[in-house]
Amino acid sequence: MTAQMETIPVPMAPEDTPPALALDGVTKHYGSSRGVDALDLSVPAGELVTLIGPSGCGKSTTLRLVAGLERPDAGRISVAGSVVAGSGVFVNPELRRVGLVFQDHALFPHLTVGLNVQFGLDRLSRADRRRRAGELLDLVQLAHLADRYPHELSGGEQQRVALARALAPRPAVVLLDEPFSGLDESLRAQVRRDTVATLRETGTTGVLVTHDQTEALSVGSRVVVMHNGVIEQADVPEKVFERPATRFVASFMGDADFLPARVHRALLTCEIGIVSTVPGWADSDVEVDVVLRPHEVALQADPTASARVSAVEYHGAFVLHHVQLASGRTLRSWQPHIVRFPIGTAVTVTVTAGTSPTLLIGDRAVTTPPLDARRAATPHER
Ligand code: ADP
Ligand code: MG
Repeated sequence: MTAQMETIPVPMAPEDTPPALALDGVTKHYGSSRGVDALDLSVPAGELVTLIGPSGCGKSTTLRLVAGLERPDAGRISVAGSVVAGSGVFVNPELRRVGLVFQDHALFPHLTVGLNVQFGLDRLSRADRRRRAGELLDLVQLAHLADRYPHELSGGEQQRVALARALAPRPAVVLLDEPFSGLDESLRAQVRRDTVATLRETGTTGVLVTHDQTEALSVGSRVVVMHNGVIEQADVPEKVFERPATRFVASFMGDADFLPARVHRALLTCEIGIVSTVPGWADSDVEVDVVLRPHEVALQADPTASARVSAVEYHGAFVLHHVQLASGRTLRSWQPHIVRFPIGTAVTVTVTAGTSPTLLIGDRAVTTPPLDARRAATPHER
């Protein structure tokens, strides 16, 4: 539950290797409804990117455009350095070197596991097809089930066959659209680990769509957050969680509460008092909103305090406390499982030492004072 994590460097492809996938101003509208709008995204070879956002934000549309199941209205898509859509080009799906894995597996019911995996290998000789399918089934540890039919497999096994089938033709990119959401909770973590391990082992570039925040943060070397057809932020997981670029990202990627606050002479204050110093804002006097996450909020029982515990949720290892401040606004605070303040307890609310929270002006995060902040501060400060 600590805010400070080490930043994991994103693996860099050698400079002369083109990105495995590049989207450049890609737009697709459905009549008056916006599918995706002016998407820019570059995925270096070997990277596993997670794509997350609420239902209807354009995740599947993005994958369908990359796979060639949709044509963009505008923009350009390149796979491994070759344009596959846009600039007057449209490469058919089967020629794109893009593999697909969907939630419902979409295995061919009348073909055995082995033949399902051989399916995309029709340019190889029969012997090479069988050898390649065998390699992939070994990789996903299903070689012993090669002669079964899909309906004779568990959901997790079907998922692994679908992955083997997608990887068999050595695609430049594999697209996975909510691949684990059809699996029950207990199976999902294991299949997710196996899938990620397989992608890493084969050095395959992947784009994995999920609506699960924890999955997006833990699986992706980069996380792309979409909202209403646009990319709000694409960055390493730590940045997306600790330095959200927008109000939407702050609230979608983890729990967040927002309080009106002020930065005056580099001191950030809000209803609960001084929150932190803001280096570089010495000359400013600015109204902002401060983003506070429950793990950054500390509570102490204090009969003279005006804030009150308004709800308590037991989550097992941690207990989430909702606290109502004098203004009526609420903050949430994670407490270790042995701490449980009864509802109604008067508490002092502070921010954990070392927290440097995100500041918002309007819906965007700010890291430097706005240009007019300094002038605003001048008259009464000098
Ligand atoms: P997500 O996968 O993020 O849930 P989608 O990419 O499926 O979202 O959809 C994005 C938006 O585009 C939604 O508003 C959806 O209704 C619309 N949309 C997607 N496919 C079509 C289609 N074939 N016809 C009309 N609208 C579509
Ligand atoms: Mg979808």
